[in-house]
Amino acid sequence: MDYLPVFLNLRDQLALVVGGGAVATRKVELLLKAHARVRVVAPRLHAELSLYRDAGRIEHLACAFEPRQFDGAIFAIAATDRSDVNQAVAAAGAARGIFVNVVDDAAASSAVMPAIVDRSPLVIAIGSCGQSPALARRVRAQLEAMLPERLGDLARLAGAARARVQRALPDIGLRRRFWDRLFAGSIASKVFAGGAREAAALLDAELRAASDGTQRPRGEVYLIGAGPGDPDLLTLRALQLLQQSDVVLYDRLVSPAVLERVRRDAERIFVGKQPGRHRVTQERIHSLLLEYAGRGLRVARLKGGDPFIFGRGGEELDLVRRAGVPVIVVPGITAALGAAASAALPLTQRGVAPSVTFVTATGEGAEGLDWRSLAAPLQTVVFYMGVAQLPRIVELLRAHGAPAERPAAIVEQATLPGQRVIAGCLRDINAQAQRAQVVAPALLIVGEVARRAAQSADLVQALDLRGAANA
Ligand code: SAH
Repeated sequence: MDYLPVFLNLRDQLALVVGGGAVATRKVELLLKAHARVRVVAPRLHAELSLYRDAGRIEHLACAFEPRQFDGAIFAIAATDRSDVNQAVAAAGAARGIFVNVVDDAAASSAVMPAIVDRSPLVIAIGSCGQSPALARRVRAQLEAMLPERLGDLARLAGAARARVQRALPDIGLRRRFWDRLFAGSIASKVFAGGAREAAALLDAELRAASDGTQRPRGEVYLIGAGPGDPDLLTLRALQLLQQSDVVLYDRLVSPAVLERVRRDAERIFVGKQPGRHRVTQERIHSLLLEYAGRGLRVARLKGGDPFIFGRGGEELDLVRRAGVPVIVVPGITAALGAAASAALPLTQRGVAPSVTFVTATGEGAEGLDWRSLAAPLQTVVFYMGVAQLPRIVELLRAHGAPAERPAAIVEQATLPGQRVIAGCLRDINAQAQRAQVVAPALLIVGEVARRAAQSADLVQALDLRGAANA
């Protein structure tokens, strides 16, 4: 280790920044974030820095660098684009025993600035001892994606409870276990999901139970939307929770690639409908949820798309809540949005589609829909459907006044490697689907915006033909 990482307390201390450009601006902002007083030396200031000066947040010396500008400073950053000036700043700092960072010049620096992941009060600094700032930035990006946004809130919650926990649990072993459980369990997940107040109440209850020895493991349920299939469309929170789940109950719509992102040693339980096999009933899913949570396990209920869009998420939420088990709901990208993006079909569009409706037309539900309004022009209607319902949907739309020429598109296996888009209009979409042998899962998109599907299908075909001609 060639450098010692330390956190400097710069509050109300003077820091000198030499340079007034964009790079200096970022450094000044960083110093202000750390509550330093900042003196900027630069003949001219970047527009943003002028704003800070006008607001009285920095001191500005509009002149060339001179060593006496170090007076009163305990840290300095040289951020000009002239290496002779930067060297002069470094030398003047060294002569006074003040650490100087020269931007992008580790050799001239007595201090190097790390890449920072800021979850204050939890702060992570990543340095490469000047070898590869680009690599340090990359590691930072990885940590950024991994660490919950509200990690700082958890640190604050723990900080506020620290003295109380110390009093209640004088034994250090017990105390460590208490904190470990807290950071891995429902209290932390609550904080990360924005429920700090609820988390504080849970913490009090846990602490009471821990100190009078009545503690029992507390299970929890995560109702997670897995998105339409492409695992890169999982939310960060979904990933974080899938990485800490003990058991995962998943549907048929959850893609194998998404399941790959589940913690290696978690138990995976399929609760979907399989062709030719009996469906796991909703009652059975309910009892599994409660059974596993009751054993103190962290149970992920992973559903295709979003749990609250045609996913019976509401029923599961009510059940788990009634049983007093903490539950966290994580939204997912619903199939309509996934299909729209990957088939390049905007669902609303000025002038032709000022509104969009998501409908489920599976089962008997279809008869109860307001077909007259679904058949009306100037809108987009997305049908979540079993492929077998397609003819009936088209028939009902036509019967309620939708013209045969109204554009329609089917997106099959949206966002998955086998995605296909079948384009047509109400007159021919059935025949098209049959010819293409569409299989589940598939969505039907009806409305003017679906015209684009035909256009882009033509384009793809043209490109394919061109590719074939070139080959
Ligand atoms: N909760 C899910 C929907 C469940 S209903 C969500 O928010 O997406 C099941 C229907 O969703 C399927 O019949 C199909 O119409 C649609 N669907 C789900 N995933 C799909 C995908 N990858 N491509 C196309 N349609 C999909």
